[in-house]
Amino acid sequence: MPKVLFIQPSQYLVRGGIVKQKKLYLPGLVFPLLAAMLPIHWEVEVRLEVIDDIDFNTDADMVGIGAMGHSIFRAFDLADEFRKRGKVVFMGGYMASMVPEMALQHADSVVIGDAEVSFPQLIADFENTGQLKPIYDNPLTELKHLPIPRYELLTAKPIGDMLPVQAGRGCTHGCSFCSIACIYKGRHMMRPIDEVIRDIEYIRSLGYRKFYLIDDNIMNNPAYLDELCQRIEPLRMKWSSQCTMDLAKNDSLLKQVVKSGCEILSLGLESISQEGLDKLNKSWLRVDDHRTLIKAFNDAGIMISAEMIIGTDGDTTDTLKATYDFIKECRIPLLRIYILTPAPATRLYTELKHSGRLIHEDFRHYNSSECVYYPERMTPEELTDMYNWLNGRIFSMNSIVSRTLLNKQFLRYPLKYLFAFFVNLHYRSYVKRGETPLIV
Ligand code: SF4
Repeated sequence: MPKVLFIQPSQYLVRGGIVKQKKLYLPGLVFPLLAAMLPIHWEVEVRLEVIDDIDFNTDADMVGIGAMGHSIFRAFDLADEFRKRGKVVFMGGYMASMVPEMALQHADSVVIGDAEVSFPQLIADFENTGQLKPIYDNPLTELKHLPIPRYELLTAKPIGDMLPVQAGRGCTHGCSFCSIACIYKGRHMMRPIDEVIRDIEYIRSLGYRKFYLIDDNIMNNPAYLDELCQRIEPLRMKWSSQCTMDLAKNDSLLKQVVKSGCEILSLGLESISQEGLDKLNKSWLRVDDHRTLIKAFNDAGIMISAEMIIGTDGDTTDTLKATYDFIKECRIPLLRIYILTPAPATRLYTELKHSGRLIHEDFRHYNSSECVYYPERMTPEELTDMYNWLNGRIFSMNSIVSRTLLNKQFLRYPLKYLFAFFVNLHYRSYVKRGETPLIV
């Protein structure tokens, strides 16, 4: 029986070693989904390196590695090792899709973007010829008829209390730093609502009462989101997802989202510098609205998990000190900060390269905690210092307690804000070791 081993690599730590955790709260969907597309006679194994060991002496015929962000460099090293041992290796995921020529130096084949058409072709090629084409590139035009993912490949592992369910893919916006914008170029696809509900009902039948709704931005299509939430509501499940701040401008939709069981939303708050947002092609996000929209999310009962970027062209040492004041004032319970990083192939990368602002192109250092370009109004050293200063402040015990246990929302939602407290402690442990906090 032929066998494929799927690996989600971990990530290298700045100070050496790789990230390992006892538990992975948000496992990805791609391997259970691809496994469900395999012909019946194929055996499959999934290894999530953050929580699983990797067996280089595997009996698998093929190794498929899917990497996101900086974990691509761990993926390259794993691929090299497996190929040394005679395995056929293919790679996929956002990063490999953005730099396929780089990935092909380490893998036999790269699946660019959507894998639903490409993966069955790749399997058929391997069965028929024992070989793979270097590139499989078959972008989807619609996201229909996906099988139920083989969730059992995740449920035996030490994961959190929710499973992923896909709603959509891509994004209609074109933020210049974003890998999703780079791959989907304004394209967004939604799954038929019946199929999304089928998957939610399935994970419910497995005993789960929570899910993570996967969509690069659930606000891409408000009418779809509204209808989807109306269908989710009777299932009495709790869910989380990610979207833009725009949701808080639509009062009735926000209420429907909450009624359907949404508890936590990951939001790209990005910056308190409008000039910085404008230069990142994100001028539709208005800094002047931040406080009002955060309050609207809080009032509605949604806990915010914010992502922010520092080092935009509007940033100075003073704006970054003001960023800390803003976080403190808004008591943002969950937060991760990154140094602006021009991932290769993004529009931001091209802009910085053409204007001579890249310090180097050693992509192993493009890890969001090191400054790899010349900021407009600070030196790279000043920006790195401010990044460390901000993380030190945000993840001080005073700040953590103030944003979680002493947050007035704690009285309404004690369990959620207690959860946020422990997540912050987890992030703090990374910061104390001089590492970037990683999403759990
Ligand atoms: S809104 Fe978010 S997902 Fe969409 S392009 Fe901008 S950063 Fe990327």
